[in-house]
Amino acid sequence: MNFIEALKLKSKLLFIFIIVTIGLVIIGVMGTINLNSMKKNLDSLYFGSLVPVIELSTILQTYHGNLASTIYKAKHSEVNAYEIKAQIKTAIDTINKEWKNYESHFKRYEEFSYVEYTAAEIKATNDYFFKILDALAVGNNIKDLSISNFEERITHIHKVVSKLIEYEIDIAKYERKNFLNLYDSILLKVGAVLVIVIFGVMIISYYVFKSIKNDQTTLEITTKKLKIANKKLENASYTDSLTGLYNRRYFNLIYEREIRRAKRTHSYITFMMLDIDYFKQYNDTYGHIEGDIALKSVAKILKDALNRPSDFIFRLGGEEFGVLLSETSESDSATVAANICDVVRDSKIEHKGSKVNEFLTVSIGVACCIADEALDEEVLISRADEMLYSAKENGRDGYDITTNVSTATPHIIEEASA
Ligand code: GH3
Ligand code: MG
Ligand code: MG
Repeated sequence: MNFIEALKLKSKLLFIFIIVTIGLVIIGVMGTINLNSMKKNLDSLYFGSLVPVIELSTILQTYHGNLASTIYKAKHSEVNAYEIKAQIKTAIDTINKEWKNYESHFKRYEEFSYVEYTAAEIKATNDYFFKILDALAVGNNIKDLSISNFEERITHIHKVVSKLIEYEIDIAKYERKNFLNLYDSILLKVGAVLVIVIFGVMIISYYVFKSIKNDQTTLEITTKKLKIANKKLENASYTDSLTGLYNRRYFNLIYEREIRRAKRTHSYITFMMLDIDYFKQYNDTYGHIEGDIALKSVAKILKDALNRPSDFIFRLGGEEFGVLLSETSESDSATVAANICDVVRDSKIEHKGSKVNEFLTVSIGVACCIADEALDEEVLISRADEMLYSAKENGRDGYDITTNVSTATPHIIEEASA
């Protein structure tokens, strides 16, 4: 069933639809053919057996009821000669008509000879009655008719026709049995085809639905893989490949978001700018590759030192890092900055080129404030930058902090107050 796998979802459903339709058409055609054959059989059962029996019975009835009773009545002078003639003629006409009808039906080969014999006997009996009519015409009295001869005739024709009736009834029974057998076999055939078609549709549907499920699973797996790949791509685009810290692109995103959040809740926001002291000399002393390793070490130290979920560390470029803290007061921010300076220094990364320490150190500029609507996010960064400059000026391996993030410079304030 590989070809099912190759089909598209729409084609798979179309395939099931075609199979079901073909199945229904097969059942329909079979049903119609068999119903037609049943109809034919019903016809032959009715015209081939029942009608002939009725015709033969009418012949018998006419012999007994009309001819014989007319003769008996005549013998007892209950009817006149004119009535006798008319009744005998009518009865014989009826008999001939019914016999003609009977003969016109389909006859089986084996009954030919007996039908011919019966025809001859009917003719002989009718001739007998014509003779009576002739005798009456020339003035003979009906009372002179020999009763035994007459009764013999009637009894004889009765036997002959009755035998034919019995034969026709047997045929009718036989046809009926055939018909019922045929009905049963048609029922069986249609039932069998129905079962085969249902079974076939079930098997094909099973494969189609299995294939649809496979497609769905493949799609789910692909979607999952795609999501993971997207996540990786997203992470890669937000991560600095050397240190594994967030990069400047992510900083731009997070910084704005965090400032907005702090403004909404009127809470503390702290931004720190970190710069490695005399790093140019570090590279000059140990080489660029060692410089990179030192950058990685500082990144790890920062990660270990700042582990609150709301703390963000970024590599903003070169040997400069940014730290963003939420809901941290001025004194707490100062403690964090001091701690960073301590842990970097205490990690004892040798730095012979440094003029402040035998180990690698960092300087930090900190800007901290309670955010309000007036806060300008650019000012927070430039204040941190100013504080970094100030920390460098003050001898490096330390931090400087400000809470003044007003857009107005101190100079203008002084002028205004003067
Ligand atoms: P200061 O104490 O005043 O900051 O002195 P400094 O030498 O660190 O001065 P500055 O910050 O201007 O120097 C930056 C140096 O950092 C320049 C460059 O050699 C080095 N640097 C920048 N990016 C990288 C990097 O990705 N890898 C390495 N190994 N060095 C870098
Ligand atoms: Mg620098
Ligand atoms: Mg530096």
